[in-house]
Amino acid sequence: MPEIKRTRAREKQQDPNKPVTEELVVEDVVEVKPEEEVSVEVERGITVIEREWKPKTELGKLVASGEITNMDQALSSSRPLLESEIVDQLMPNLESALLTIGQSKGKFGGGKRSIWKQTQKKTKEGNKPKFATCVVVGNRDGFVGLGYGKAKETMPAREKAIKNAKLNLISVKRGCGSWECGCNEFHTIPFSVSGKCGSVKIKLKPAPKGTGILAESQVKLILELAGIQDIRSKAFGQTRTKINLVRACFDALKNITKTKVKSI
Ligand SMILES: [Zn+2]
Repeated sequence: MPEIKRTRAREKQQDPNKPVTEELVVEDVVEVKPEEEVSVEVERGITVIEREWKPKTELGKLVASGEITNMDQALSSSRPLLESEIVDQLMPNLESALLTIGQSKGKFGGGKRSIWKQTQKKTKEGNKPKFATCVVVGNRDGFVGLGYGKAKETMPAREKAIKNAKLNLISVKRGCGSWECGCNEFHTIPFSVSGKCGSVKIKLKPAPKGTGILAESQVKLILELAGIQDIRSKAFGQTRTKINLVRACFDALKNITKTKVKSI
């Protein structure tokens, strides 16, 4: 980035013996990405690039030829989902949301929640920043996916994250597992599950109709896009590490399908 190099040159002119301080360089990197640009991109959602798709995988060819027409068939076909275009074609009404996994510089020492997680590598040429972000996609009716993307610029990172989220798409089993309700509709989860990532553990419990989603804001986004209306949750561990918290929630949703239920 030219901005960083200029800062360093200025520093050398002023005082050659003085080392370049960390704060100055970080400040300039934040200036390169203004806050307005980020908010505009959130509102816009998925940008669809019109390009002719040539399927390479077996599953892709089946979808292109029209043999597989819905996502349930594609996921249960026991063929790996390796092309995001399959999801684009089978589920055109997919919604996406960016999760606040990083922090930008705030006033009075505290960091402000941001959708970009910024990291820097120290090299001879200067600090090389990288941006990472986490995207959740879902159709609000039983399908949800979580993806992580990292790149030197913000927009490619988001594109990568959306692509990964589509490839990680899972089907969430829903039901009425609350003994307080017993309506047999698909508004909550069928039984209690737990998920884990790092030190973070999360428990999801079924809730009766009208409860709403009782969870942390980012976990709530995932559960909403999965199509769950009523749920209770409890998280343990270092939950301020948001990336681990959202991954733990996704792990718990995966565990609903993994659990084998004996029908009576
Ligand atoms: Zn119910």
